[in-house]
Amino acid sequence: MVLEGSGCAARMLGLDDFGVVASEVVDDELHVLVETPDGQVMGCHDCGVRAESKGRRTVRVRDLPACGRPVVLVWRKRLWRCNEPLCPVRTWTESSRHVAARAMLTGRAREEICRRVGEDADAVAEVARDYGVGWHTAMAAVREHGEGRVDDPARLDGVIALGMDETSWLRATRTHHTLYVSGLVDTLTGRLLDVVPDRTAQAVASWLARRDRRWLARIGVVTLDPHRGYAHAVGAHLSHATLVVDHFHAVALGNRAVDDVRRLDGATIADEAMALTRSSNLDTHAASTPRAGPRRSIDPVPSAAR
Ligand SMILES: [Zn+2]
Repeated sequence: MVLEGSGCAARMLGLDDFGVVASEVVDDELHVLVETPDGQVMGCHDCGVRAESKGRRTVRVRDLPACGRPVVLVWRKRLWRCNEPLCPVRTWTESSRHVAARAMLTGRAREEICRRVGEDADAVAEVARDYGVGWHTAMAAVREHGEGRVDDPARLDGVIALGMDETSWLRATRTHHTLYVSGLVDTLTGRLLDVVPDRTAQAVASWLARRDRRWLARIGVVTLDPHRGYAHAVGAHLSHATLVVDHFHAVALGNRAVDDVRRLDGATIADEAMALTRSSNLDTHAASTPRAGPRRSIDPVPSAAR
């Protein structure tokens, strides 16, 4: 169903360069036909002579999803021509600050893709599906808007409790064993600060070595799994901090210790029973040939304790 455009639709779209002409659903995607307003006077950007309109050309660019559907802006871009004979400029198409040249996504869509992956921890593939684009297109948006944030040293400000733990990154294949990464987390806010390759002391120590002294001095508590490599790395750079074994690993270690005791106890009882059996056989034999010396036995359980 095609709906005629209106000022209301343009307001909902929220891109002030454009008016909405029409919209329709195509293959479960919302296609919105947009144009810049008529009556514009355009001057040549080189010589300043008033340009002549030469019609329109349609481009498609994806925007923020709406009502659970991917949105495609179908933009009828104006074509302009400079008629000044001495001007080197011949023709050009209009531009918008919301849509970069040859971009598949609007600027606000690229920014939101990065935010969902970085702040909401949504998978790149999931976000790409919501926008109707491929994984690489979504990942390019994450890199475009995310790399600047990662490089911003201020993102590490205010951290006073640091956590580190290993995570399986890629399963083992014929060509490599299981690959791990080490995650560094602000344990007060739960914010992931960084991820470094491998789970060795060197991997974490290198990351800590890139922090300045004042940042390291503010870290009062370090939470880590009992992996000895992390403890070595922390000892070299954060010896002033209190080390805490994280809850998950502490419980796991406790359970393992209880299991070990149970297994040991069972083995001890079995050994004792075997010794008793041997002792009983000896006693039977000793009844006919008494000999001196202590005899191993287990005292019977007192009746009061039964
Ligand atoms: Zn010109």
